[in-house]
Amino acid sequence: MMGGTATDGIQLQWRLVDMHCHPDQLANGSEVASDAEQLGLALFCVTVSPADALAALERFDANSNVFVGAGLHPWWLADGRCSESDIEAAARLVATSRLIGEIGLDFNGPRAETAALQERGLSAILQSCARHPMSGRVLSLHAGKAAGRMLDLLEEFGIPEHASCVFHWFSGTSEELTRARSAGCIFSVNERMLASKRGREYARQIPLERLLIETDAPRTFGQRSSARALGNSLERTLDTLASIRPESRSRIADQAVALGMELLSA
Ligand SMILES: [Zn+2]
Repeated sequence: MMGGTATDGIQLQWRLVDMHCHPDQLANGSEVASDAEQLGLALFCVTVSPADALAALERFDANSNVFVGAGLHPWWLADGRCSESDIEAAARLVATSRLIGEIGLDFNGPRAETAALQERGLSAILQSCARHPMSGRVLSLHAGKAAGRMLDLLEEFGIPEHASCVFHWFSGTSEELTRARSAGCIFSVNERMLASKRGREYARQIPLERLLIETDAPRTFGQRSSARALGNSLERTLDTLASIRPESRSRIADQAVALGMELLSA
């Protein structure tokens, strides 16, 4: 068994761990969170702004299966929904946060025009992490055409040495994947990543002990969903992983649950 005795109880408690999702952006997020608990589904609720993070912390306070990250999504900076004051608020919030995300850089299409603002935002957050180190810190990272730049900044602030850096839905180049692996990064994969040939090839190459699963649900913010739908998405991700990797499905699932809970409940 993976993980030793410390994770045995956790493995019994949680059947699946969704390592990157947005239940606070569901029309019926509170219902989904409670139903997920009944199904043995733990959720890493990443947020898109510091205000949303504070709201989610309060909203899911009673849900022992929901773990909220302090985030500032690069899309929110790129399209002006978040601004300099949110960067300052995010930098303050992460100083006292163990779980951080969703943060990152996205240089796809017109969002590249705001690269400097995005880099300023990410740098402020990483600098705050570096100045306020905390044991067991976890970052859920979004990189669109920017994995190399993301790794530059993570290394500039010495983050990989004292935090778990989780690339969500890795879509960089093969060289960037190699570099992220060398830096000790972890990877959470979802069914949409596995829909592409390149995504499947990356998911095949990631070492089992660095592999997590996620839904990144909902696809459209404000939608309704169900805990069962999240669970089914994770099950399909495990099906695909088992079809492309040498390990058995149950071994992949056990490992992903053990690693996920080790990170979330440290
Ligand atoms: Zn996301």
